[in-house]
Amino acid sequence: MSDTGDRTENLIIVGGACAGYTAAVYAARADLEPLVIEGFQWGGQLQNTTEVENYPGFPEGVMGPEMMGKFRAQAERFGTRFITDDATRVELSDGGIQKVFIGDDEYRAKTVILAMGAEPKRLGIPGEMELGGRGVSTCGVCDGAFFKGKEVMVVGGGDTAMEDSIFVSKYASKLHVVHRRDEFRASAVMQDRARSQSNIEFKTPFVPEEFVAGDGGSLETVRLRNAETDEVQEMEVGGAFVAIGHIPGSKLVEGQVDLHDNGYVKVDEPSTRTNLAGVFAVGDLVDFTYRQAITAAGSGCRGALDAEWYLRDTPPTEEELEVDPSAEVEGVAATS
Ligand code: NAP
Repeated sequence: MSDTGDRTENLIIVGGACAGYTAAVYAARADLEPLVIEGFQWGGQLQNTTEVENYPGFPEGVMGPEMMGKFRAQAERFGTRFITDDATRVELSDGGIQKVFIGDDEYRAKTVILAMGAEPKRLGIPGEMELGGRGVSTCGVCDGAFFKGKEVMVVGGGDTAMEDSIFVSKYASKLHVVHRRDEFRASAVMQDRARSQSNIEFKTPFVPEEFVAGDGGSLETVRLRNAETDEVQEMEVGGAFVAIGHIPGSKLVEGQVDLHDNGYVKVDEPSTRTNLAGVFAVGDLVDFTYRQAITAAGSGCRGALDAEWYLRDTPPTEEELEVDPSAEVEGVAATS
């Protein structure tokens, strides 16, 4: 049984990063008293990011972890409660009570917002994590501008790699697209756009084997292996962007809500409604196109409003009244 006894929350938000915290700010200001199960390592991808220069409102830029701390503090200011642990299981219902578990502890709510995000796929090679923020990046759109005038590499052969290459090539002196096959998964139009940039060159079939730092501690050399001949080469670059796809954090809800073939949660766009009434999904967990802090935050706002409207318009179920007779749409009066 949960630490919260028989209490049925108005809203539980699973995931503490841009989308989840923004949902919490909106829900808390609507007097829904949201409970955020934020994860042991809250802050999402921004927790591993250095400077963020493209989030409006920070003209001087802001460090990723500091920005997440500010998002969290803003949600807390309006009464959000947090549990700094990972949700281990959910029992989602179509319009009934939603249950979220942390080990044996059960938390119940009338609505749930899923905001578990996505993680960039990694190559899993030496130097990749160690040089994160010091030359190795997983987001061209976020970090491209830091590589003005430098020779850089983008790893991957999908649309993200092409998009990142086109963006980063505006700053880089020269850019190498390194891909493990001669064929590309990217759409023809994106490939053509990348190939038409005079400072972009394609290098196939090669796989990076190691990112090596120079004397200053930042990336200086990438060891590449020819995937067909096993020949090893070294390439000197000031930056490397790993753009080999993302893994959505949807494992927790697999088999309970509808997912796209690629594992992202399906929502009834432009809303954040999933196929289950009372269950909403936001942020990078549903977005395989834009994946920006600002788009995740916007989506979190939509999730909170959707949950608020759902609570306003949905009478309590028998199950709900049985569990918590005092729960009669608590907090909803204030929002209608
Ligand atoms: P993706 O389509 O899955 O492509 C991933 C690429 O990384 C593939 O070329 C893959 O190689 C390579 N790769 C994967 N693991 C690797 C490893 N361990 N070592 C080396 N290379 C590896 O992922 P994505 O490019 O992120 O695109 C995801 C989805 O978003 C797609 O549906 C895409 O169309 C969409 N998207 C669209 C746009 C746009 O339209 N503007 C922009 C971005 C993304 P293989 O091909 O050999 O497997």
